[in-house]
Amino acid sequence: MTDLEERFRLTRARLADAAGDHPVRLLAVGKTQPAAALRALAALGQRAFGENYVQEALVKQRELADLALEWHLIGPLQSNKCKEAATHFDWVQSIDRHKLIPLLGKFRPAERAPLNLLVQVNIDDEASKSGCAPAGTEALAAAVSAEPRLRLRGLMAIPQPDADPARRRDAFRRMRDLFEKLRSRHPEIDTLSMGMSDDYPLAIAEGANLVRIGSALFGPRG
Ligand SMILES: *Cc1c(COP(=O)(O)O)cnc(C)c1O
Repeated sequence: MTDLEERFRLTRARLADAAGDHPVRLLAVGKTQPAAALRALAALGQRAFGENYVQEALVKQRELADLALEWHLIGPLQSNKCKEAATHFDWVQSIDRHKLIPLLGKFRPAERAPLNLLVQVNIDDEASKSGCAPAGTEALAAAVSAEPRLRLRGLMAIPQPDADPARRRDAFRRMRDLFEKLRSRHPEIDTLSMGMSDDYPLAIAEGANLVRIGSALFGPRG
């Protein structure tokens, strides 16, 4: 068994353990990894891949064009990259300001299904972080659902990484509350994206149903 295969099996087993009988999707985060590493993981059965940078993703997408993969943009999006993001991704998880929404709607190609979007929330109110303030979530969600070429799917967050487990758990809980509140107005939403290599079992325990995992699958980033 290769190291990659071993890490993939271990991660899926821990994920299944944490998830019990509620379904949780695994997004493999490939930033800084070569296309060959993603191809090896796809050969083991992984379909959904997350990338932080549009340019880096486009290079890999070209190299992996023979595979039927699902691509998520999970890094900060600049408005001058909206056209490429709307054209080349299946999901954008990092919607944190109004300006991006009409641009993504306008550039989503007519022949493709609507672009799936998550509103990113700065749940710990960190000064340097992307994400909207929790109080701004509802307005962004409403703007997304008003765009016919976009599909509102839910929320994403990156809680403060250095917080102690109790504080992180509290952040995940606040995200879940926000998600439930939003779902009372938008019953179609189905995705709460939170949890990374260090904390995904905790995130799942607090209601995450999509976890974004990089180093636990691919090994430490250089
Ligand atoms: C890098 C990254 C991840 C994965 O981080 P790991 O700790 O390597 O699992 C998840 N989400 C976002 C937004 C990231 O930038």
